[in-house]
Amino acid sequence: MSKTGKAWVMAGPGQLEMREFEVPKVQKDGMLIKVEACGICGTDKHMFNGNTGMVDFPIIPGHEFAGTIVELGENYKESMLMVDETLELKVGDKVIIGPGTKGCGKCPTCLKYPDKPLLCQNRFRYGHSRCTEAPYFLGGYSQYLYVMPDSWVFKMPEGMSFDLAAMAEPACIALSVLERASEGDLPSLGHGMGLGRTVAVIGAGPIGMLIMAAFKHAGAGKIIAIDMIPKKLEMAKEFGADMTIDAKLPIEEKQKLIMEANGGELCDVVVESAGAPIAFREAIELIRRGGTVIEAGHFTDGGDVSVNPYMICQKDCQIKGVWANHPAIFRDALNFFDRSSVEIEKLITHRFGINDVAKAMRAAGSSDVGKVMIKPWEE
Ligand SMILES: [Zn+2]
Ligand SMILES: [Zn+2]
Repeated sequence: MSKTGKAWVMAGPGQLEMREFEVPKVQKDGMLIKVEACGICGTDKHMFNGNTGMVDFPIIPGHEFAGTIVELGENYKESMLMVDETLELKVGDKVIIGPGTKGCGKCPTCLKYPDKPLLCQNRFRYGHSRCTEAPYFLGGYSQYLYVMPDSWVFKMPEGMSFDLAAMAEPACIALSVLERASEGDLPSLGHGMGLGRTVAVIGAGPIGMLIMAAFKHAGAGKIIAIDMIPKKLEMAKEFGADMTIDAKLPIEEKQKLIMEANGGELCDVVVESAGAPIAFREAIELIRRGGTVIEAGHFTDGGDVSVNPYMICQKDCQIKGVWANHPAIFRDALNFFDRSSVEIEKLITHRFGINDVAKAMRAAGSSDVGKVMIKPWEE
């Protein structure tokens, strides 16, 4: 093993540069992996663009990664969280690490929502932590990653590629959307998500595509993709969309097209995954009375939009947000990858080696780009 490893450091908005760090000594409760693939997330791009929230720069970004264990602390069984308690790890195993450690268990959110450890403000998060001292490698835009104690470790299924495994984290968001749309009420009466429901997804970016594929896998009926970019709408058809609508059309036109195709009804469920505030209002406008809106597009602050509250009362609708999930959902994501009729890996349209991470960041989010993957051991 080399004594140093390359990583890309974000020193502040717009500042991304490659640096070399010393590979840290692995503590008894830690682990070191070679990062084999790391996805660029929309939130990474937002950080780069200055919409940073509470980021404590400098950081090595990246929280969607998979890799190979190169060193394993002897107390890993006590220190790591493994949903499958029989799981034995060894050097050379291919693993996915959850995006952060477990909740502190003591703060108000941990006490009120033990099922949502990701809401805890005190936990450690990969891709958001300062890299000024050892173990430095705490984000996925890097050749190595130091796995902190209390991290979630999932063994990759036999035969799965690292690129697909690195998509498990964003797929967990899609499965959370599905779970939020399905929970409560009476599915057999058409409440929320159930078999045969009409679902529209606004925003056909990587997360929107995964949401469509997840709803299709879960038995949705008609799936409608709404986006401004024709190429993305075309791709959406491969990810489960039965019908596509140009987002630039006026809302009345969209409603008309949906009702014509859907027996005179609007949608049972609309998911907002475009991250444009206006799309939230349109989501409410596109559900039928009693329908469900899931807001899953604003992981950073995109500003305000006006909404007529009468519409919410009159529709007697449900509006739910998605932020956190329980990392156990990674198992479902891996199962979904294994069994989905959709070829999820097609979502990855661009791959960049370690020297081209700045280029990768610029490419991410462009109109003809799907998911961008960093391959830290390629040039
Ligand atoms: Zn992400
Ligand atoms: Zn907590």
